[in-house]
Amino acid sequence: MQATMMDVPLSLNHLLDRAGTIFKGNEVVSRLPDKSLVRHTYGQIHRRTRALGAALQALGLKKGDRVATLCWNHHVHLECYFGIPAAGGVMHTMNLRLAPGEIGAIAADAQDRFLVIDDILLPLYRQFAHLHRFERVIVFGYSGAPVGEGFDDYEALIGRADADGFVYAEHEENDAVSMCYTSGTTGRAKGVVYSHRSTVLHTLVGCLGDHWGFKGTDVLLPVAPMFHANSWGTPYAAVMLGMKIVFPGPHLHADDLLDLMQVEPPTLALGVPTIWLSMIQTYERALTEQPGRWKLPQGLRSLVGGAAVPESLIRAFDRHGVWLLQGWGMTETSPLATVSYPRAELTGAGPDERYRRAAMAGVPAPLVQLRLRAEGAQADAPWDGRTVGEIQVRGPFITGSYHGVTPAPDKFTPDGWLRTGDVAVMDDLAFVRITDRSKDVIKSGGEWISSVDLENALMAHPAVAEAAVIAIPDEKWSERPLACVVYKPGLAPTAAELAAHLLGHGFAKWQLPDRYEVLDAIPRTSTGKFWKLKLRERFPA
Ligand code: ADP
Repeated sequence: MQATMMDVPLSLNHLLDRAGTIFKGNEVVSRLPDKSLVRHTYGQIHRRTRALGAALQALGLKKGDRVATLCWNHHVHLECYFGIPAAGGVMHTMNLRLAPGEIGAIAADAQDRFLVIDDILLPLYRQFAHLHRFERVIVFGYSGAPVGEGFDDYEALIGRADADGFVYAEHEENDAVSMCYTSGTTGRAKGVVYSHRSTVLHTLVGCLGDHWGFKGTDVLLPVAPMFHANSWGTPYAAVMLGMKIVFPGPHLHADDLLDLMQVEPPTLALGVPTIWLSMIQTYERALTEQPGRWKLPQGLRSLVGGAAVPESLIRAFDRHGVWLLQGWGMTETSPLATVSYPRAELTGAGPDERYRRAAMAGVPAPLVQLRLRAEGAQADAPWDGRTVGEIQVRGPFITGSYHGVTPAPDKFTPDGWLRTGDVAVMDDLAFVRITDRSKDVIKSGGEWISSVDLENALMAHPAVAEAAVIAIPDEKWSERPLACVVYKPGLAPTAAELAAHLLGHGFAKWQLPDRYEVLDAIPRTSTGKFWKLKLRERFPA
């Protein structure tokens, strides 16, 4: 029997049209380099985005051509999210925090035809321009300065284009719309390519109440960069629901974000744990040193993921009326694949249980199949909260290959599941708890020690601001844990005090770090996570 439904392909264009018609008066606010704010309505964004589509086609963009972006979070980047695919192109968001050589290599790998770039990033462009030739470099005059010779001016280009006459490029729902390279924390960067279908489905799942629970009444502050895993898909959700967006631009220090929150209070924010770690330290210091300077928006929900979220951080924000909602995912998974939300069985649970669950990666999202496989095992690991296995996933917004790479045999299982390289346990309520990345696990005397568990316990010590634990080689035990710690200003606990604290958190003696190295700061990756590779280089033994 044949279904009788219309065969309308899932499309980002529909999301854009919805914002531009149903929500045309709602606002998108962008912070400029001089920290002033510029405002557009969705009606204006809709028109400008269609003009971008028309302009790109007039420049000769063909279906499937890559258009790279090198931009901070702002309205023009949002226009690229929709305007490039609307014209039939594929938006390739490039990570502006990578080394110039890496950016050039990635642009060459993606074979980008055009580039859209913020004028304040042109000095970076000049450092990699010799590695890849873009046919057109379209400059957004973000700083307000005139766009120089030899470049296309974004505003002039869309000003001349025929927004009214623009017709969306024909497409099928599986056609590519965007691509993002894995940040290469544990290997060579590889391109993941998303489709209309994968993006729309991921957006719909993000809006479910039992997932992120986005609503049109939310005010979104996307701190996670739009060049990293699509800012977790939130720009698409915001446009679909007509949500007000407040883009922070290049000003991502804790005090800048707190300043912005005073004038444009968000209800929803997102970023990696290190952002929230520095924000809570800055905020709590100001409570005594500059009382009244800032107030955290009450009822703010913040999505946190990309690295383990310490329970102590969740508790600290909750004391100030902000709830951190943890999710797990990766560039390959669009990225949201699990969320730690309070499922029905937890109704009435006490605060300790609530915090304990919130510090887990959470429950697999609808449409995501997730299993744990122990090394070499043919069957799934049981959901007993103890048995450790690698997370493997499958689903309509999970990548099945990498751009231009014959799938490395170890990234996909023979039956087609993505091997994430993350090690976890699951319990009977299907809560995933990440214990490590396979490369970060500490193998001591045949037993595994979770670096994540040690870090979280260390960061629960009142004197510890940040902690990262790595393995160092050991003749007798093969590997032993070394803890790198950053203390809060004016505090300096001894190694014995830290060890006693860890014993109090249920660690056995043999699991305790052999050494503590006190640092000024833990090095960060290009996406703001603790960079253990750098620590391993610094402390090879
Ligand atoms: P990279 O692998 O370079 O960091 P991604 O930004 O795609 O690139 O990061 C995905 C990885 O981030 C996951 O494989 C996992 O190791 C880590 N991660 C994401 N969310 C969480 C989380 N909630 N808890 C622990 N680790 C997480």
